Amino acid sequence: MLRLASVGSGSKGNATLVATDETTILIDCGFPVREMLVRLPQLGVDISDIDAILVTHEHSDHIGGVAAVAKAAGAQVFATHGTVASGKLDAVRSLVRIDSDSSFTIGDIEVNAITVPHDAREPVQYRFHFGASCVGVLTDLGWVSPHVLEAYKGCDLLLLEFNHDLEMLRRGPYPAVLKRRVSGDFGHLNNEQATTMLTALGDLAPRVVIAGHISEQNNSVDRVAELLTPLAEQQKVKIIYATQTQGFGWTTSESSGGVSRVA
Ligand SMILES: [Zn+2]
Ligand SMILES: [Zn+2]
Repeated sequence: MLRLASVGSGSKGNATLVATDETTILIDCGFPVREMLVRLPQLGVDISDIDAILVTHEHSDHIGGVAAVAKAAGAQVFATHGTVASGKLDAVRSLVRIDSDSSFTIGDIEVNAITVPHDAREPVQYRFHFGASCVGVLTDLGWVSPHVLEAYKGCDLLLLEFNHDLEMLRRGPYPAVLKRRVSGDFGHLNNEQATTMLTALGDLAPRVVIAGHISEQNNSVDRVAELLTPLAEQQKVKIIYATQTQGFGWTTSESSGGVSRVA
């Protein structure tokens, strides 16, 4: 069975782990090696356990630590041609260029790279398969395109972006240009967009949703919970909240129903 954990989630750094008994994949790394060496052991992971790093796009909260962590882990790095063209992975020795919307295998895990609307050169997000279990990671997108909705049907577990509350963003301290970027079609998902996606997935919604990439300035767990808790109770979905400082602990689709705030 696939399991999912996060080292940290938010605009100051993202790093997510997907693993089976044989294979450990790190998705993005916005943290320096010294931080990873503190946080990975808290999840029972040694840096050398990481077999591969998948990059979603070149924004620094996702790519900032990739080259150094790949070197420390001795891991291959996978990224789209566009992400590689950003130059942010030039220091990586073992780099595999992938196509958007392609599928490939790392160890015993099948990976789908899914095109998302975001303001980067060739951004993708990922879906993972092992046996009958399926895990999705979906952050950093401005809206849920029909392609995205189709691609994330039937996941057991989904790490989903609940970036901002529109009203908090509107009233908050960001300059106007940044407010437009964040809320635009190539920015980030707001709470309502993410909730609407889960509703639209209906019977094919995940059994466990991890709310992630929650803005510390323009959102709060309480605001997300206001929208998500009724839906979770209705659809019998378990909710976990990922934090910037702690991410969340190892989670599988066998986690029981209900609402949890355990990080
Ligand atoms: Zn981000
Ligand atoms: Zn981004």
